[in-house]
Amino acid sequence: MAYLSLKDINKIYPNGFHAVHDFNLEIEKGEFIVFVGPSGCGKSTTLRMIAGLEDISKGDFLIDGVRANEKGPRDRGIAMVFQSYALYPQMTVYDNLAFGLTLQGIDEDIIEKKVKNVAAVLGLTDYLDRLPKALSGGQRQRVAVGRAIIRKVGIFLMDEPLSNLDAKQRVTMRSEITDIHHKTGSTTIYVTHDQTEAMTMADRIVVMKEGYIQQVGTPYELYFNPVNVFVAGFIGEPPMNFVRTVVKKGKVKVGDNVLDIAVKLGDKASLYEGKEIVFGFRPEAIVLGKGEGVSIKASVELTELLGDNTNVYVDIQGEKSILKVNPHDTPEMDSNIEFSIPYESVYLFDGETERRI
Ligand code: ATP
Repeated sequence: MAYLSLKDINKIYPNGFHAVHDFNLEIEKGEFIVFVGPSGCGKSTTLRMIAGLEDISKGDFLIDGVRANEKGPRDRGIAMVFQSYALYPQMTVYDNLAFGLTLQGIDEDIIEKKVKNVAAVLGLTDYLDRLPKALSGGQRQRVAVGRAIIRKVGIFLMDEPLSNLDAKQRVTMRSEITDIHHKTGSTTIYVTHDQTEAMTMADRIVVMKEGYIQQVGTPYELYFNPVNVFVAGFIGEPPMNFVRTVVKKGKVKVGDNVLDIAVKLGDKASLYEGKEIVFGFRPEAIVLGKGEGVSIKASVELTELLGDNTNVYVDIQGEKSILKVNPHDTPEMDSNIEFSIPYESVYLFDGETERRI
């Protein structure tokens, strides 16, 4: 039995807006789950239902096999870190960390031990006497995380905890949170709109769109086996390239290039004859020059040298795509190039349902 079960969870707000539809998910003890999706897809609403901060309109939420829909937030064994990590400004880091425990009437000696432990885990030992205003954004965020983990709860919920940090701090905190998760072993649900955070931190990712789960899987599964155009386009940076095209005798046109994809369509070829499909390939899955798979001629519009690779913006007779190449192979601007995509890196989607073929 899973540790947390969400069965057909729905959220309909009092104004009638249906924010979450039939959300089903089983979470094992100790898992790091990331909810990811664009703004407004229902990630925070789902997290808040788990936390007990929003009513569940329909469906069952179970903690360790016991229905928890009606349990108050305090009785769920949950700690939460929000986007805005409101620390008490007049209290030192020590007091901010100790506050929840002091309220519970726990012995001062035990509190001191716990605060020192958490401070050590989070690298805050040298800052315990400081006020929040004398800390960097990253340090403040660590105090907020510390306040949550000091309570030793089984379930840890985080809603965009890194969004107030700059890019460098985010990278550091990402690995710190993963590290804390390994040390504490708490079941963690983390909400973000940032696919890089999802890919780097999650055991499993839940991709959401407009209140519906699109796919649940490991970062590897979502990257290499996306179920639809949305997931394929959301996971990966730069995103997968897509071209809408019609199947004719097992072939499609991408720009002026006629590509034989019969081998990819397999026995579904007849089903898609004359139908529109979406042809997709990842920027990094290409080989410059004529190679195995399908070959495409394009002109180079722009190149961006990033150091470890170059992003090449190409025009395939009207279709725009991005290719990722070795910086030593960067083509000339305005030059004509040919590149190939191995069959295993070609993704085909139904033009109507946008589901993977
Ligand atoms: P973001 O990344 O912007 O926080 P999100 O995926 O977390 O987005 P939610 O905050 O869960 O999205 O909101 C989902 C949808 O529900 C949005 O369309 C939002 O406008 C709507 N919504 C949120 N709270 C309420 C409310 N109290 N009443 C009505 N609709 C709401």
